[in-house]
Amino acid sequence: MRAEIVAVGTELLLGQIANTNAQFLSQKLAELGIHVYFHTVVGDNYERLTQAIELAASRSDAVIFTGGLGPTQDDLTKEAVADYVGRRLVTDELALSRIQAFFVKRGIPMTENNRKQALVIEGSTVLNNDHGMAPGMGLTALDKTFVLLPGPPSEMRPMTENYLMPFLASLQPEKQVFHSRVLCFFGIGESALEDKLSDLIQQQTNPTIAPYAKEFEVTCRITARAASGVLAESLIAPVEAAIRQRVGEFIYAVGETSLHEVLIAELRKRQETIACAESCTGGSIASLLTSVPGSSEAFRGGVVCYSNETKRDLLGVPARVLDHDGAVSEAAARYLAENVRQKIGTTYGVSVTGVAGPGTVEGKPVGLVYIGLAAEGMPTVVKELQLAGQRRAIVGRAAKYAMFYTLQRLKER
Ligand code: ATP
Repeated sequence: MRAEIVAVGTELLLGQIANTNAQFLSQKLAELGIHVYFHTVVGDNYERLTQAIELAASRSDAVIFTGGLGPTQDDLTKEAVADYVGRRLVTDELALSRIQAFFVKRGIPMTENNRKQALVIEGSTVLNNDHGMAPGMGLTALDKTFVLLPGPPSEMRPMTENYLMPFLASLQPEKQVFHSRVLCFFGIGESALEDKLSDLIQQQTNPTIAPYAKEFEVTCRITARAASGVLAESLIAPVEAAIRQRVGEFIYAVGETSLHEVLIAELRKRQETIACAESCTGGSIASLLTSVPGSSEAFRGGVVCYSNETKRDLLGVPARVLDHDGAVSEAAARYLAENVRQKIGTTYGVSVTGVAGPGTVEGKPVGLVYIGLAAEGMPTVVKELQLAGQRRAIVGRAAKYAMFYTLQRLKER
């Protein structure tokens, strides 16, 4: 199945919002083995929307729309698709009763235009909206599949997961199941990963291999379709093995997760604790770790030691080290990691000191970062990195490297 995603909304064309719906939907369709060949964006204008529908239907088997299902005059997606396929709009009673219940609950009168939200294209499968009012819908007409989804991501995403995915899976010719395995990478960029796997990616149609960039991390989703879950898993296994053989050293986890979640989970499993001393990351590590529910069992606290005085007075970096080696140095990182661990009384102490830019510090280049790793009963190690990018990227990457190295160290115990 070749699909096209048509995002409807003038605010997208004006650059007021980014088309994150298309990104999300592409990922979800890839999981189903559906190839997305085009992303289209069109404004809230009946003629241009009709042109977009005609073009999409001429070159794709499935056209997925987002946006324009609301109650106002400029919400035209249903009307334009209904006209294109030559069907009427009819009221979906369940959707109408949900909309009415919504207004009753809020204690406000329902305006007439809200009835419009309960209209669906005749003969379509209604996709419930559990987080808003306008239902989605899917239909087959003129030998094509059309899907209409609401614009707000908070409504569109759960609708896709809960109702659209089963709807699309039910259209597959044979009954098939889809299984995915996500490999989490750190320390390799998306393009480098794609490059190393390019022949595998190009050869494979089942399973499909799809790398995605996350915030300073990369994930790779392997998706197989087969008659049973066991068969799908057996298709995934050799592909995963081939990927591991090439880039296994960058894989830190399997599943939808992130470095901070894995680190907290590992620490809790081992009943170990961590503290951090952050200079250039300014609390980013602490912020990421505390975003994980249950992190208090493992994360004891940290010091944002941004100035030399704080490094010296709170964390005991000797003045001679700061004067001689500098705050951005192997020696300072070592003292910071060891002393934060000792003062807070944890299994691990991790420190980060570096030059986030844009200016140099102590004559040291932008991107130079030292990460100190102190651990109970183990020698302290300090890693030196030369990170590329702007200030935000350097800080983000440094925080992730600190957690990645801690994870490695923890596994060496
Ligand atoms: P509503 O009932 O809120 O009018 P709708 O289905 O008519 O829903 P739109 O009016 O097109 O959807 O968009 C509503 C909001 O949803 C937009 O203001 C925007 O915040 C978000 N949105 C719409 N399309 C996209 C998109 N493609 N990517 C990300 N966000 C989007």
